[in-house]
Amino acid sequence: MSELDLILFGPPGAGKGTQADRLRDDFQLAFISTGDMLRANVKQGTQLGLEAKKYMDAGELVPDALIVAMAVERLQEEDARDGFILDGFPRTIEQAKALEKQLHDLGRRVTAALLIDVPDVEVIRRLSGRRVCVKEGHNYHIDFDPPRREGVCDQDGSQLVQRDDDKPEVIENRLRVYHENTEPLIEYYDDHGLMRRIDGTRPADDVHDHIRAVIATLRLEENV
Ligand code: AMP
Repeated sequence: MSELDLILFGPPGAGKGTQADRLRDDFQLAFISTGDMLRANVKQGTQLGLEAKKYMDAGELVPDALIVAMAVERLQEEDARDGFILDGFPRTIEQAKALEKQLHDLGRRVTAALLIDVPDVEVIRRLSGRRVCVKEGHNYHIDFDPPRREGVCDQDGSQLVQRDDDKPEVIENRLRVYHENTEPLIEYYDDHGLMRRIDGTRPADDVHDHIRAVIATLRLEENV
């Protein structure tokens, strides 16, 4: 095997998106976020977007059948040939099994599942202050990482808004869904010997360094 096929997971607000942005600059891996793909579908008003929106707004998981087809198709695109980082997929054991089967059919397998671990209180603090730009989805935090001008993206000048699913009652539901449906993946990937834990409460630079070190080690082990 020569590719590096990675899963990035953890509770909402663990900093997966932030870390994935940085990792994209470090490694030549396709970055695949099912949340971003769904939001793009919602924005474009596709059939999938229309169906997914009601689940997303409530902080519920979009049904496996919709998600798996979308993710599996994306994995087969040219830029994912030499490896990928998945953010937000799989989120259920069913999705993990579907991913495993798909990769197996392609003669590949998951290299590692990186868990960015953050406790609930910190998740709530982070998500309730998160703001994203309407154009590219750049992330800010009103206290920890504010934009230079309030309500305006530093990078592209577009307006900053709160995601519908970052409203307090929805955050609570997303956490419940995470504990019930996604946390079982820890044991699943542990059993497969693929779990790598990262302390997500550390500053973003430290988390980034840790992930890079893990990936560098994996690369050596995989000899790619
Ligand atoms: P995210 O940006 O990863 O937090 O995803 C935002 C929302 O998209 C989630 O709260 C879900 O409603 C939906 N979503 C994203 N990825 C998945 C997935 N793998 N399975 C089910 N729903 C998902």
